Amino acid sequence: MTSASVSLAMPTVPRRRRSPQEVADAVPVTGEKRLLLAAPRGYCAGVDRAVIAVEKALEHYGAPVYVRKQIVHNRHVVETLEERGAIFVDETDEVPEGALVVFSAHGVSPAVVRSAEERGLRTIDATCPLVTKVHREAVRFAKDDYEILLIGHVGHEEVEGTYGEAPDHTQVVNSPDEAETIEVKDPDKLIWLSQTTLSVDETMETVRRLRERFPNLQDPPSDDICYATSNRQAAIKKIAPQADLVIVVGSANSSNSVRLVEVALEYGAKKAYRVDFANEVDESWFEGVATIGVTSGASVPEVLVQDVLRLAAEYGYAKVEEIVTAEEDILFSLPKELRATLKEAGDGSRGLGGRGQRPTG
Ligand code: SF4
Repeated sequence: MTSASVSLAMPTVPRRRRSPQEVADAVPVTGEKRLLLAAPRGYCAGVDRAVIAVEKALEHYGAPVYVRKQIVHNRHVVETLEERGAIFVDETDEVPEGALVVFSAHGVSPAVVRSAEERGLRTIDATCPLVTKVHREAVRFAKDDYEILLIGHVGHEEVEGTYGEAPDHTQVVNSPDEAETIEVKDPDKLIWLSQTTLSVDETMETVRRLRERFPNLQDPPSDDICYATSNRQAAIKKIAPQADLVIVVGSANSSNSVRLVEVALEYGAKKAYRVDFANEVDESWFEGVATIGVTSGASVPEVLVQDVLRLAAEYGYAKVEEIVTAEEDILFSLPKELRATLKEAGDGSRGLGGRGQRPTG
């Protein structure tokens, strides 16, 4: 895969901050300074595929390429693609008739697909195949007249898309507490599905409480929380108990990044923060800190993590140990709408994903 443009953007410029010596004088550190770097971290196969889909669309069809919603929930990625000619819109009715629109990795409901067809839009569906899997489950169980309890965050694009597959059969369960109050039509014909990027532990707590009330609640045919979400949470769970500070690189609207902060705190990190860029790291976070843990959400290019590592090194955390809890080798091929065009153009690209260590250019 040669398309590394997203990572080619200039590193962020650190703001003025206190010197390492001033920070050390404020609260001295006892013990050796070290940094534990989570692996896997960063880009998953679905994000990589979606970003490449927009890059390839720009390359082969030319700008502008419209994208419904953020292609993935990361500011850096979105801003970099905007510079190259992508136009991000909230809804398809903002796209000029006949233009090309890419559906984001989070998926869309059938109503959105219909609306695009009615406007004569050309579409590329970059929905992650693991989200599509959940959509198919929703369709299948609704067809069999099950009631679906969709565990997920109200208002998240992925939940809107999955809900839209079977709105008459689905209720969203937003939290473990909601499991205590939700009412169902038939407790014997009930299945739970979930958003792909939730906290594994919290989701299982929601299921446990649901099952207390509805013992015949069925499990999904396979895990809906995806491999990338689970793996990134497992890695930070290993690091958190040793960490005085955890820094998660990821955007505020990235569900899996926000969950990583919560999981780090839950598993013993003394403090944990999320940043989009290294220049958002406050040097006061380093005061008295011996061990830092660093990870990144599934939509985060590695270059942003490397910026954080460089900053941490300036403050004495140059000793980096990678904590590897899983190897990822999942690859998804590019959306079918693109594959034919790429074949005609002699472009042999496939979607590359996996360990989140996409070449940084
Ligand atoms: S986080 Fe999981 S579901 Fe979302 S794009 Fe990545 S692999 Fe797909």
